[in-house]
Amino acid sequence: MGAFMTALADQRFLGIRSGDRVIVPPHEWDPDTGVELAVDLVEVGPAGTVETWCWVDKPTSQHPLQHAFAWALVKLDGADTAIMHAVDAGSADAMSTGMRVAPRWKQERHGHITDLDAFIPGETAETNDGSALAEPVTMMDYNATITYTTPVPTNLVRYEQATGEGRLLGLQCPGCGRLYTQGKGFCPIDCVELTPEHEITLPETGVITNYTIITPTPYPGQTETEPFARVHVLLDGAEIVLGYQGMVDTPNDSVRVGMKVAAVWASPAERDENDPMSNFVGWVPTGEPDDTTPGLVNRLN
Ligand SMILES: [Zn+2]
Repeated sequence: MGAFMTALADQRFLGIRSGDRVIVPPHEWDPDTGVELAVDLVEVGPAGTVETWCWVDKPTSQHPLQHAFAWALVKLDGADTAIMHAVDAGSADAMSTGMRVAPRWKQERHGHITDLDAFIPGETAETNDGSALAEPVTMMDYNATITYTTPVPTNLVRYEQATGEGRLLGLQCPGCGRLYTQGKGFCPIDCVELTPEHEITLPETGVITNYTIITPTPYPGQTETEPFARVHVLLDGAEIVLGYQGMVDTPNDSVRVGMKVAAVWASPAERDENDPMSNFVGWVPTGEPDDTTPGLVNRLN
């Protein structure tokens, strides 16, 4: 694939020999037998024949062209398999199975499948200036999107509502008495469903049992830029530890095991009306003497 993509920047197509066939784009294995292929690359195209196609009337921003075009399977001359790419034919009437197409290359090429702007009707490739790559392609970027659709548990809805009202909502198992939060739907120890009758309001003070100072690395969605603390808080008088909690107005180097903390709720100005969870800001030191209970550091749940 690296050779194939490097060749794209050079406005050439490469396939790989597999027995008496030529497979394009090159696979590492024979798609029928799974046998690993020797790296016997062969140039194909640049023109080819449309084997099948479908018309895209309204392209999305993710599509390679921003006007109507065809997706097509194009068997390049000399190849035995077809490559899928866009055909910029102007209208669906100009498309037909068996039509001849040739590549239109982009001016700027990076060794990526998008170096091929689209196929166009005819036999003649539209080549462009621009140089081949100085280095062969060894890594490939691509964009992917995954959308998860999950039902929202009713316990979670009530937990968020309670947070919006300024309460930390817990659930107590009627079997073992264990406490849960964040809208957990069942006690995994007893396999008991937890419902509104099991709800309790949790204390708003506790003690830090453990913590992590996190140095943020940039990734999409990361809003933190400076190292920040995430703490585990054992609530006062309740056998429950809230994990990975945020601290408010507390230098990282003052965060410690045994530190007494209290919940901080948002001011009206800080609240996002559409997000009840925005009402809970994090934890702030109370200034009380530290809890020196031995083994506190081991309380992670
Ligand atoms: Zn239980």
